[in-house]
Amino acid sequence: MPPRMKRKPKKKDGVDRKPKRKVCQFCVDKIDAIDYKDTPKLRKFVSERGKIVPRRISGSCAKHQRALTTAIKRARVIALLSFAAE
Ligand SMILES: [Zn+2]
Repeated sequence: MPPRMKRKPKKKDGVDRKPKRKVCQFCVDKIDAIDYKDTPKLRKFVSERGKIVPRRISGSCAKHQRALTTAIKRARVIALLSFAAE
């Protein structure tokens, strides 16, 4: 590694960006099984381009993200959701 590329950690004066802790929407609503026919709900977890929103963005927990992924994929197969942007 060339020594010229020394990077100092930038600190913005006083502004400490704390990522807001997101809570899993399904845990809040106490939903155990995610209905793949519930398209309006699934839509919220699919990006504009038709991709499944990653967990770090959506904030859902591992268990529900897994269930959600399955639900979205099922919904896609029966054409409730699209595979890609129109
Ligand atoms: Zn959850």
